Amino acid sequence: MTAVKTSLPRRRYDAVIVGAGGAGMRCSLQLAQAGLNVAVLSKVFPTRSHTVAAQGGIGASLGNMSEDNWYWHMFDTVKGSDYLGDQDAIEFMCREAPKVVYELEHFGMPFDRNPDGTIYQRPFGGHTANFGEKPVQRACAAADRTGHALLHTLYQRNVAARTQFFVEWMALDLIRDADGDVCGVVAYEMETGEVMILEAKITVFATGGAGRIWAASTNAFINTGDGMGMAARAGIPLEDMEFWQFHPTGVAGAGVLITEGVRGEGGILRNKNGERFMERYAPTLKDLAPRDFVSRSMDQEIKEGRGCGPNGDYIELHLSHLDPDTIIKKLPSIREIAIKFANIDPIKDPIPVVPTIHYQMGGIPTNYYGQVVAPKSGNPNAIINGLYAVGECACVSVHGANRLGTNSLLDLIVFGRAAGNHIVDQFKTGKVAKEHKDLPADAADLPMSRLAKIDGSTSGENTQVVAQAIRDNMQKHCGVFRTSALLSEGVIRINELAEAAESIHLKDKSKVFNTARVEALELANLVETAKATIVSAEARKESRGAHAHSDFPERDDATWMKHTLWYSEGNRLDYKPVNTKPLTVETFQPKKRTF
Ligand SMILES: Cc1cc2nc3c(=O)[nH]c(=O)nc-3n(C[C@H](O)[C@H](O)[C@H](O)COP(=O)(O)OP(=O)(O)OC[C@H]3O[C@@H](n4cnc5c(N)ncnc54)[C@H](O)[C@@H]3O)c2cc1C
Repeated sequence: MTAVKTSLPRRRYDAVIVGAGGAGMRCSLQLAQAGLNVAVLSKVFPTRSHTVAAQGGIGASLGNMSEDNWYWHMFDTVKGSDYLGDQDAIEFMCREAPKVVYELEHFGMPFDRNPDGTIYQRPFGGHTANFGEKPVQRACAAADRTGHALLHTLYQRNVAARTQFFVEWMALDLIRDADGDVCGVVAYEMETGEVMILEAKITVFATGGAGRIWAASTNAFINTGDGMGMAARAGIPLEDMEFWQFHPTGVAGAGVLITEGVRGEGGILRNKNGERFMERYAPTLKDLAPRDFVSRSMDQEIKEGRGCGPNGDYIELHLSHLDPDTIIKKLPSIREIAIKFANIDPIKDPIPVVPTIHYQMGGIPTNYYGQVVAPKSGNPNAIINGLYAVGECACVSVHGANRLGTNSLLDLIVFGRAAGNHIVDQFKTGKVAKEHKDLPADAADLPMSRLAKIDGSTSGENTQVVAQAIRDNMQKHCGVFRTSALLSEGVIRINELAEAAESIHLKDKSKVFNTARVEALELANLVETAKATIVSAEARKESRGAHAHSDFPERDDATWMKHTLWYSEGNRLDYKPVNTKPLTVETFQPKKRTF
């Protein structure tokens, strides 16, 4: 035992996983089954993680309903990423996809079935046959509740494997020693307000996305970017944070998601003249073009005065031409959402929709084993010992500048499993030391000082007011279309808000289930994620994927075919090359993206 300057209780594990969504639980399953002593922390009960809300499907070239193969899937993903995705990781993911989906099936995941008993697959945006020729049916679905089916399956498997869950525990900060190695996390128990050190030989971040830095978002309220915040405070850079996906179809005014699976089943977007405008923008794939494309087209229609409704500020998604039975059987939750949040029944009337923030392509940089990497002594991808990241908080990077629908659930399962396998292998081959590393003396200093500051506050800023100001700032300055003027104003504003977030006043200092304290702690993570996003966006002077810059409307491969790395300290930016070398096949060369 070392002389840690704190009397905090401590527990020791082989591995601690922060996050019990699809990625965290796929990883923990691999570890628990191998007999490792593994703890999984989650702010909410595991099956309430945002993965539960995933609707449309998980992508895999099973070819059950139309001819398909993994190489076409890889082509679509590389092109969808606007050539910023790392092709080694993309090849790995698309090759593994059928295997991991069948594995889920064998775990008992209740997929929809075709009459011949095979898994049902629907078309999805940007997924094509024969290198872009026509849409393909690749999204394996359980009605419009695929994430629900997936997460519950994984939870049950973990319970059987005796994974230990810490439910309603919030990780506050990483512990890194003088060598830069990661030795675990400091965590906060919401029920009691107590803090504990969780020592780990391996720490895995699976904390999901941060869609809550925007005002209009399809994301759960818990998606506050805690993994990114903890990494940033520990000196780890964040990669490609300027790339955020606007999903074309959030319910106007409510933000709740209407899956792309609706268009996969035949739904059509129309403007106020009733025109199927996507035929003009994407003649081949039409409504099933990738999300960045469709969102921009919708935004343009609205800006040019062809939006629907009294204020001309939304687009209509029509389903009434579909067989009511298809809607009831294949899209039951969508119908329920439309009735509850838009007050219309899609069997008869169109759903009012607008592009809504949905997914972060960037995150904590990793290789395709899930190991977190950062530049060191000339190596842009030096491994940080003891730390892995998987799922939406990680940037492998398979999604590059724009993710295809269904590729996130796939990313969770492929890389959650791959990281698990890699960790088990490290233990088996003696690459992880038998003993825990000594904790540094200042192991808990950072989180304890953050807590002491809010608990000692007698006046200052209100958490919700600052959080809302961050969300408004992102919405206004970092939207579907960006300009230099908007972005540079946004950077100034976020730096002001970051300062305001330093002096939060917590009125209620009670310990038991004090959600105000949790929100104050989350605010620090919103700040880091929002800063990373807007500073990285301001610097990228081109348009690529989801980063549409009106002053620089073209993609500029000569200057900008590179990954951004943002460091919290001094808002410093660095860049690293894109890995264009796949593992076994030929590289897909950059081309202009048309659909
Ligand atoms: C409405 C919606 C529909 C979607 N539909 C699809 C789809 O059909 N297909 C597809 O491929 N993708 C879809 N996506 C995207 C996909 O669902 C997400 O990217 C994915 O589920 C994220 O999974 P995850 O495991 O990385 O994180 P999450 O499922 O978000 O889980 C994060 C976990 O981390 C925990 N956590 C966070 N911070 C802390 C902390 N500080 N301490 C302790 N625990 C913490 C949380 O409690 C939670 O358990 C959808 C997303 C949304 C929002």
